Amino acid sequence: MINISSNYFKDLKVVLLVAYSIILSLLAVTLIFKIDLFLWLIVSGIIALGISYFTLRIWVLILTLVLTLLSLVILSITGGGELIKNYETIILFGFFFIVTGLLIIEHNLVKGEETLEDQSFSEEFSKLETEFSKKNSYYAERSIALKRYLNLEKLAIKMNKCIREENILEIAANDIYKSIKKGTCYIFFKKTSEFKLLAGKPKSFRQKINSKEIDFNSGVFDYMTTKKESLKIDDLSKEFRFKEISAIKGTNSLICVPILIEGDVVGFIKLDSKKTEDYNYDDLKILSIASELAGLSLTNAFYLNKITDLAISDPLTGLFVRRYFIEQLISGLEFAEKTNSRLSLILIDIDHFKKFNDSYGHLLGDKILSILGKFFLDSTRENDLIGRYGGEEFAIIMKDTGINLAYKISERLRESVSDLKLEYEGAEYSITISLGVAEYFNKNFTSEQLIKAADIALYSAKKQGRNKTITFDGNL
Ligand code: GH3
Ligand code: MG
Ligand code: MG
Repeated sequence: MINISSNYFKDLKVVLLVAYSIILSLLAVTLIFKIDLFLWLIVSGIIALGISYFTLRIWVLILTLVLTLLSLVILSITGGGELIKNYETIILFGFFFIVTGLLIIEHNLVKGEETLEDQSFSEEFSKLETEFSKKNSYYAERSIALKRYLNLEKLAIKMNKCIREENILEIAANDIYKSIKKGTCYIFFKKTSEFKLLAGKPKSFRQKINSKEIDFNSGVFDYMTTKKESLKIDDLSKEFRFKEISAIKGTNSLICVPILIEGDVVGFIKLDSKKTEDYNYDDLKILSIASELAGLSLTNAFYLNKITDLAISDPLTGLFVRRYFIEQLISGLEFAEKTNSRLSLILIDIDHFKKFNDSYGHLLGDKILSILGKFFLDSTRENDLIGRYGGEEFAIIMKDTGINLAYKISERLRESVSDLKLEYEGAEYSITISLGVAEYFNKNFTSEQLIKAADIALYSAKKQGRNKTITFDGNL
């Protein structure tokens, strides 16, 4: 193998120019000064072949040959006749040409093989390189996706700690938006009987939508409710099914998933964007999992609330049980002390209920207790707390209420109860109640003292003939 490389001469053009200038100058000098033509041929021949050899290019050799032949023709015309006759010189010259030519050809063949090898190596290398970069970007994508899935685990833990639906949905909206930070996230939830916008992200989400304009019985929401499937729309202008999405102005693409509790659609999580094709299937997957997790947390919260409800409410009357009622009274008193606000307690007892039971039976007695429970609930403010304090005794905590107002309310209740016509199996019954009212204000009563005070007033009402309200205004 020939190790001489064409790199020997970095700038081929300059080399050729200098070399051919020397040959032509020598030719000119030979002609002008009539120097020996043989010497010229030998010198210029060696230079030309040297150039050809070191440049290793066959076209340089051919060019040199052509140039030399041309020079020979010029020389023969201008009186170089003797040279033509010098056959040994020409044979020697030809021999040099052939050897140089062969060396160049051999070198180029070897180089060609090397180039082929190099080529296939570099092709392989670039293939590996693209594969590597593809794998690299795939792993980068997967690692982002993995992070998003890990965030979902955190989301589940956070949501499971909540028992209020609003809190669960707020956490869901926050974390979903953190994972899919495109467009706006809205969460609609069925509170009582209708869907309401309960949470969203970014903060300005409520300004971006007129939720009153949304018809939940059509379009995307109807699709969600009936099909219970997730939905991805890349370009709303090309979407013929859901034309009425105009309630959200400027929306061009969206993803939406239903929130299910035991197979029922209780809400929707929706992300929409001004850009077309803003969401991919990975986003939809994240949203679907998040909604499933939210559904599970909501189910947990629902059952936890139900169990709590069962634990704190009396099954016959629907009112709070005594234990919970007293807890509420204690915290109510603490609040009243802190805020220096008023709080009244009313104790209610049905008059001669034993007789009622004895006359009409316990079953009817129970029915009356149940009707009264509902009646007290309906006749008081939402803020008032009503408990079944004992068998046929009820109690009401009235926050922000002084004894005078509590007395008025008690009297209204007493009159209403005595006017009640309680119908059962075709017959009409009536009962009366006695009430005792006491107030916390300025007395700093404990819960036990307040109950005792109201009880004293109630006892006094019984003593004074029943169907009466008496307020406690003395000292314990
Ligand atoms: P008073 O006017 O003095 O209150 O007379 P009263 O008969 O109501 O006397 P008291 O309050 O001492 O009697 C309570 C009665 O209430 C005893 C019981 O027959 C009845 N009672 C208590 N709990 C229930 C219940 O859950 N169901 C029914 N049907 N009756 C109950
Ligand atoms: Mg009683
Ligand atoms: Mg009684």
